[in-house]
Amino acid sequence: MASVFCVANQKGGVGKTTTSVNLAAGLAQLGQRVLLVDLDPQGNATMGSGIDKRDLTPSVYQVLLGMTAVAEVRRHSDKAGYDVLGANRELAGAEVELVDLDRREHRLKDLLRPIMPDYDFILIDTPPSLGLLTLNGLCAAQGVIVPMQCEYFALEGLSDLVNTVRQVHAKFNPELVLIGLLRVMFDPRITLQQQVSEQLKTHFGAKVFDSVIPRNVRLAEAPSYGQPGVVFDKSSRGAVAYLDFAQEMVRRVRAPAIAAVA
Ligand code: ATP
Ligand code: MG
Repeated sequence: MASVFCVANQKGGVGKTTTSVNLAAGLAQLGQRVLLVDLDPQGNATMGSGIDKRDLTPSVYQVLLGMTAVAEVRRHSDKAGYDVLGANRELAGAEVELVDLDRREHRLKDLLRPIMPDYDFILIDTPPSLGLLTLNGLCAAQGVIVPMQCEYFALEGLSDLVNTVRQVHAKFNPELVLIGLLRVMFDPRITLQQQVSEQLKTHFGAKVFDSVIPRNVRLAEAPSYGQPGVVFDKSSRGAVAYLDFAQEMVRRVRAPAIAAVA
């Protein structure tokens, strides 16, 4: 049965999609069966997995609205090594259209249920907001992975996100836990980044992942080739770090605390 993780941070451009596609590809390289769900109308995770968002008819949008089945939308990316439920700009309409539907917060959870046995990991990439799409991601997941840059304002935004996770836990999804904070685009030469990293460890302790993702241009180049960085240049520093992170996730899922939640 799949472990489901939502990659979330309401701040834009912090590395959610880069983390989603590279973790998915890293897990696939470790022999795990992975589905990546793109819940962002920008469709970056879809494109970054080598699937053209313009060819998606239907997309995850129609599945969320109950107009089609997952099987009609799910596509395997041979290059990336995992399955994708792709998104494109159509999905922007869902923020509004879901409002009047039954179980609006649980639509994604309900549609994933029948395909849970097909995967070891389901990862959900979310848009930079705490709207209904992200809420669907949080309601479907057992854990939240928060990529963040170690800068001053990152900490400020984090308290909003932690509060949202608490509220979702209390109201909608008692399984949900904050699995961890992933330091991304990290540059150890910058003193402020080191300081923020230390503060994070002080406040969040074991919830800060051991793996640290460096700023690495190969990770930024990979999407334009329709590939995750760990496939595009496996030996680059960024790819090695994401492969480490994939291993850390496999270890965490097997650890008793999370296994109990799963
Ligand atoms: P959005 O909020 O718009 O969905 P996001 O949080 O998904 O953004 P990404 O798209 O993953 O963020 O990353 C933002 C930009 O930073 C992209 O151009 C990406 O290629 C680049 N980037 C992400 N991680 C790294 C890294 N470790 N090193 C260098 N560039 C990176
Ligand atoms: Mg993104």
